Amino acid sequence: MIERLAIIGVGLIGGSVSLALRESQSVGKVVGCGRSEENLVRAKQLGIVDSYTHDPAEAVEGADMVLLAVPLGAMQGTLSRIRDHLPPDAVVTDAGSVKGSVINDLQVVYGEVPEWFVPGHPIAGTERSGADAAFASLYRNRRVILTPTGETDTKALSRVEQMWRQCGAEITCMSVQHHDEILAATSHLPHMLAFSLVDSLARLKENDEIFRYAAGGFRDFTRIASSNPVMWRDICLANQEKLSTMLTRFADELHELAATLEAGDSEGLLQIFERAKQARDRYIDGVE
Ligand code: NAD
Repeated sequence: MIERLAIIGVGLIGGSVSLALRESQSVGKVVGCGRSEENLVRAKQLGIVDSYTHDPAEAVEGADMVLLAVPLGAMQGTLSRIRDHLPPDAVVTDAGSVKGSVINDLQVVYGEVPEWFVPGHPIAGTERSGADAAFASLYRNRRVILTPTGETDTKALSRVEQMWRQCGAEITCMSVQHHDEILAATSHLPHMLAFSLVDSLARLKENDEIFRYAAGGFRDFTRIASSNPVMWRDICLANQEKLSTMLTRFADELHELAATLEAGDSEGLLQIFERAKQARDRYIDGVE
């Protein structure tokens, strides 16, 4: 049971944690913290938070669990703000989509990765943002990756694992490096491609017509281009090195695909499409 949970950044991710913990009756008080008054008022109306403040230092007072769910670009500032205000037995975790940058932020603020900090990332989300987007079942049967370091206190780790299990999630632990490589491929690259495809089509002269006749495939492929641009800018910059490697590799593959098409290489195209279909069908069978 978490007695007092402080959520810094009460959006889709932070708000859904609160709703899920409330549903499983595993949390007492929830204090929210953010910049937008309108969003915090809404969070209170929706029963996500019991009270709120705009000051992270005030939010963590008396908290036994602190969840940082702000965009990655706001992590370092938030860590500095709470630095001298955390209760001695508080556990702090985060939900940031890149782990190397959070580790770096901790090192800048604390000179080390404190033992009471458990870096985390729920592999769940939607393209919507803000408290209004939060829902209790977001994490049900979804995976949460934790990337404890050699310094992480085992009790802090098990309290964070427990919190996510109470939200309905399954836990996987891996290294920071491995997390950032995998997520560059499976999440950050697809978001880059969706943003870039929609942007390049929108800049074509006849874009009205293109979007008017766009069907289900376009909708499926581009859904994630409706995601929060600030959050995604932060994620891409935070994972710049690994994402650039993936993007360059993918650009090479795209050039090869273009050459296959230009050459009218029917067998070559079929091989690529069949390989892709088999891989996706295997993946879908695995998750359903
Ligand atoms: P969101 O936009 O829904 O919520 C973020 C909240 O943080 C907003 O309410 C915003 O007002 C607040 N905020 C922004 N800057 C702040 C600051 N300096 N101080 C206090 N509050 C601030 O975003 P989200 O989808 O909930 O994402 C939150 C975090 O979770 C991000 O780090 C993101 O990388 C990560 N994440 C997102 C997803 C996803 O699919 N949306 C999935 C997994 C992890």
